[in-house]
Amino acid sequence: MAVSFQIKNPLRPITNISRSYGPSRVITTCSVTTTNPQPNLERLVVKQRLVNPPLSKDNDQTLQSTWNHRLWVAAGCTTVFASFAKSIIGGFGPNIWLEPALASYAGYVLADLGSGVYHWVIDNYGDESTPIVGTQLEAAQGHHKWPWTITRRQFANNSHAIARAITFTVLPLNLAFNNPVFHSFLSTFAFCILFSQQFHAWAHGTKSKLPPLVVALQDMGLLVSRKDHVGHHRAPYNSNYCVVSGAWNKVLDENKFFAALEMVLYLHFGVSPRSWNEPNSDWTEETEISSNNQA
Ligand SMILES: [Zn+2]
Ligand SMILES: [Zn+2]
Repeated sequence: MAVSFQIKNPLRPITNISRSYGPSRVITTCSVTTTNPQPNLERLVVKQRLVNPPLSKDNDQTLQSTWNHRLWVAAGCTTVFASFAKSIIGGFGPNIWLEPALASYAGYVLADLGSGVYHWVIDNYGDESTPIVGTQLEAAQGHHKWPWTITRRQFANNSHAIARAITFTVLPLNLAFNNPVFHSFLSTFAFCILFSQQFHAWAHGTKSKLPPLVVALQDMGLLVSRKDHVGHHRAPYNSNYCVVSGAWNKVLDENKFFAALEMVLYLHFGVSPRSWNEPNSDWTEETEISSNNQA
């Protein structure tokens, strides 16, 4: 058995890439093919192809926050804070603390579950042409292709879509209800969902570069850890969807919760999730190689 290496040239000269996009990136994928007329001769083909992922926040507008992003995050935080204030003010008079505290804990626990369900939906169903959430679906798929970019995405850029949904959901609930127990649940749940993308970004961060408090919370299991989330980016790409604390991941995955939901949807509507088609080139992570490694 002989093994040979074949390197296909990039689509464009590397010198052009460096000029156009800054540090160039070459994606390397490996495949083994059997060629005729030489039976049993396996050839390892190393393909190099250029991709155009978002680069750093310094030179890619798509990773930077706009004032529109910041305003939506501010609106979301304001509605969450108003709900939190109602829980404090409402509980202060009658001096009830236990129920709001338990409701708040329930909000934290269920937010992790909610983040998993939401993540599962946007990973598996629809595409960029889907009304209203198409941009989020496209971003979710891009995250699987270039997961490292989430650590370079600015906070409001990363969180504004969820913040907008939080605003439209929590604002009417603030106006309609005054129960402090309800608002203890709502404010904690909404806070965790609003910041779930930031928790997710931290799960992709390098431990030495994260704030010590974040590392401590990850180590305590209060925030989703890199160790927990890394399984989501490995084939078959159908586990570890929860990104608040990650506490639900084990029980959901061991009991094949999402697999059962996928089967129900398939049998009722004939719609198959994207994870059933994995691995394919659309979702397989592309490895970043620095320009220093290209020689
Ligand atoms: Zn995902
Ligand atoms: Zn991720």
